[in-house]
This record gives sequence, C-alpha cells and structure tokens, in this order.
Amino acid sequence: MISVVTPVYNEEAILPEFHRRLTLVLKAFGEPYEIVFVNDGSRDNSLALMKGISGRDKCVKVVNLSRNFGHQTAITAGLDYAIGDSVAIMDSDLQDPPEVLPGFFNKCREGYDVIYAVRKNRKEGVFKKAAYGSFYRLLKKMANIDIPLDSGDFCVLSRRALDILKSMPERNRFLRGLRGWIGLKQTGLEYDRDKRYAGEVKYTFSKLVKLAFDGFVSFSYVPLRLASFMGLLVSLMSFLGILIIFYLSFFTSRTVSVPGWASVIVTILFLGGVQLVSIGIIGEYIGRVYDEVKQRPLYVVQDAIGFDKQEKP
Ligand code: UDP
Ligand code: MG
Repeated sequence: MISVVTPVYNEEAILPEFHRRLTLVLKAFGEPYEIVFVNDGSRDNSLALMKGISGRDKCVKVVNLSRNFGHQTAITAGLDYAIGDSVAIMDSDLQDPPEVLPGFFNKCREGYDVIYAVRKNRKEGVFKKAAYGSFYRLLKKMANIDIPLDSGDFCVLSRRALDILKSMPERNRFLRGLRGWIGLKQTGLEYDRDKRYAGEVKYTFSKLVKLAFDGFVSFSYVPLRLASFMGLLVSLMSFLGILIIFYLSFFTSRTVSVPGWASVIVTILFLGGVQLVSIGIIGEYIGRVYDEVKQRPLYVVQDAIGFDKQEKP
C-alpha cells in the first residue's frame, strides 16, 4: 500500500486536475494506494470538491482540519492518518509533478528510507529564486544536521522513517529538517519544478518568514552565539577605546574632548540596536520553548472522511 499526502488550502481551481493526473500515475504503478487530502481550513469550494471526489473514488480520503493550521501542520496531520508502507508528501498545486512519483517509490522498494526531491530549476521570479537560494545555503552552513540544498517537502518516506518522524513532537515543524535529522538511507532525485497550475500562491510572505525562522531556530544555535559574538566584539572595541583615551590623557599633552554629542548618540543607538537584536533572537527561541511547554495538540480534526474506523490514529 502506498499513500500520497497532500495539503489543500483554497485550491478549488486545481483539485479535479490534480486528482486526475495523480490517479493516472498511481493506477499505472499497480500497487494499492490511498490519497489523503488534508483540508487546511479552505474558505472556497475545496472541501465540497474533495468530499465529492472521495464519494466517487474509494481511494481518496479527506482529513478536514478545524481551521487553517498552516502547510507544515497540515502535512503532519495527513501523515498521522496515512497507512501506506511508503508515503509521499506533495503539494496539491501540481508544482510537484505526480509523474515523477513512480521513480521515487521504486527507490523506496530498493530499500531507501527517505527519497527527497531536488529541484533542478524553479519557475519563479528572480527575487524569490534568490531568496530561496540564499536561505538554503545559509541554513546548510548554520544547521547542526545535514539539510540537502534545494529540496522542499516533496518526498517519499518509508514506513520506518515515517514512524520516526511521527514520534517527533515539536510544535513548530520544519519538516525538511526533521526529515534530514532522521538519517537512515537517504537519497535525492532531481526533478523539474513546474509552475503552479492555477490560482494564487497560498504561502504569504509572513508564512515564509516564519518557516525560515523555524528552520534556523530548530536546527541551529548559531543565532544565539551571534549575540555572544556581537557582545564580545563591542566589549573589545570599547576596551580599545579606553586604552586609547588613557594613553592620550596620561602620556600626551593633548586633552581628550568628545567632539559634540553626535558620537555619544551614535554609540548609544548602536549598543541599543545590538541589545534589541540579541533580545529578539533569544525571544525567537523562548517563544518556541513556550509553544512546547503549553503542550497543545498540533491540530484539530473536524471530521475525517473515507477512512475505516480502525485507521484513525
Ligand atoms: N497550503 C496549506 N496551508 C497554508 C498554505 C498552503 O495547506 O496555509 C498548501 C497549498 O494548498 C499547496 C501547498 O501548501 O498545496 C503549497 O502552497 P503554495 O503553492 O502556495 O506555496 P509555494 O509552492 O509557493 O511554496
Ligand atoms: Mg506551490
């Protein structure tokens, strides 16, 4: 049995075509399969569409979340419900082409536990491409685990890898990092990332920034060390300043005078800035610690459609 988990947020324009193309591929592959749609609080007609598809096609199941929980959490919910021996994670906007899935599942049959998709090219704007590119490269430098370059959430996991992933309880999930953390036998397969089939991008700028922060904070202590480093640098500089002033006032005939208030203000502002940034960085970590301490459930399921009773987690 193979499972395909896909989060859906306002994708009414794409769902029928997504289902058609995916079903074509999975039927041809020959193994029994299930498609798990996770409705992440869509406000359009997506839920009705999914329910309709599930009514006609027994292989389609729907996990309907109680509100919009975000892409990463929606995937997590779908993974909890998936029962396949190998499970694919893919977006529902057809940017991840279903046609490449058989190659991924075959690798899983060969004994790989994690097969992640590596983007050969992106069909997106210059700015977005540059932002993604530098984010992944910076994260790779800073992270304390191996996070492969240019690989998103699109992947296939073995049951073994999935069970390990499911046992990780963290609230702010950066799945591509958690996936790398597992280890086991991992491999990347290249693919061409398509354009979104229809509709608007659902990842807003603020959601992307949140995801990027989750990546850094969950897998690196470098930002925290940055605060110590900045502190050290400023202390060192001011110590040098003290020495210079000492020297000038005791060993030369010059009297040290501060030329105007500008230098004082600039110094104060600089220090204030460094301190606020450091507090902000610490805050990012503390906020996430607070999220963990609260122990809230990751998501709330309103209803699950098309599942057998015993399948529900
Ligand atoms: N998505 C979701 N919840 C959200 C935002 C997005 O489930 O809050 C889904 C969306 O339906 C799509 C996938 O996540 O299937 C990726 O979203 P999008 O294509 O907008 O992002 P991008 O491809 O630009 O990363
Ligand atoms: Mg997309």
